[in-house]
Amino acid sequence: MAASDFSSLIVAAADTIAAHAEELTALDQAIGDGDHGLNMKRGFEAVRAEKDAIASKPLPEALKAVGTKLVMTVGGASGPLFGTLFMALGRELPPAPDRAALTTALGKAIEAVSVRGKSQPGQKTMLDVLQPVYEALAQGKTGSEIADVADKAADATVPMKALRGRASFLGERSIGHMDAGARSTALLVRAVAETVEDR
Ligand code: ADP
Ligand code: MG
Repeated sequence: MAASDFSSLIVAAADTIAAHAEELTALDQAIGDGDHGLNMKRGFEAVRAEKDAIASKPLPEALKAVGTKLVMTVGGASGPLFGTLFMALGRELPPAPDRAALTTALGKAIEAVSVRGKSQPGQKTMLDVLQPVYEALAQGKTGSEIADVADKAADATVPMKALRGRASFLGERSIGHMDAGARSTALLVRAVAETVEDR
């Protein structure tokens, strides 16, 4: 991937997180501690601040650098989990992946998040968006179709009962609200899918 392409991915990701930070905070206020918007914004602005240095690296190294930066800056439960996702993608992807390589790498990265979070899809977390996105990618769906799958998957966390993360402390009272990490994941998926499709 050309440096300018990875750089536009960083800008798209940081822009969407910044534009939706208040929404993410409000979601996390309902069933968590209300820091998710700020956490994610801090992390993606830190990545943006180093975008030229990061984008000049080969794709696997660039992804590992994004993951490391997110672990250091996002904080909360989500920082290590998003960090793991990007670091694992960096570990698994070849420098110039095709869709098959991307699918395999995303599958392994989701596995790494699941191990790190001791969590599975169905527990009202970011995994409830990542897993359907993986399946859509494996099925050959287009970027905008995948982005729609991600949005629907985030919506589908509303009726779920949280079994991991802070929201799980609320038990039944976590039902009726969208998971903040599922929403931020869907935002990132749309930003990446639309940027890649535009090329
Ligand atoms: P914290 O919960 O520490 O305040 P954040 O608010 O930044 O951290 O992130 C919360 C989000 O992290 C949740 O909405 C959920 O999607 C995700 N999350 C929390 N715990 C887990 C876990 N064990 N596995 C997967 N995702 C998780
Ligand atoms: Mg929180």
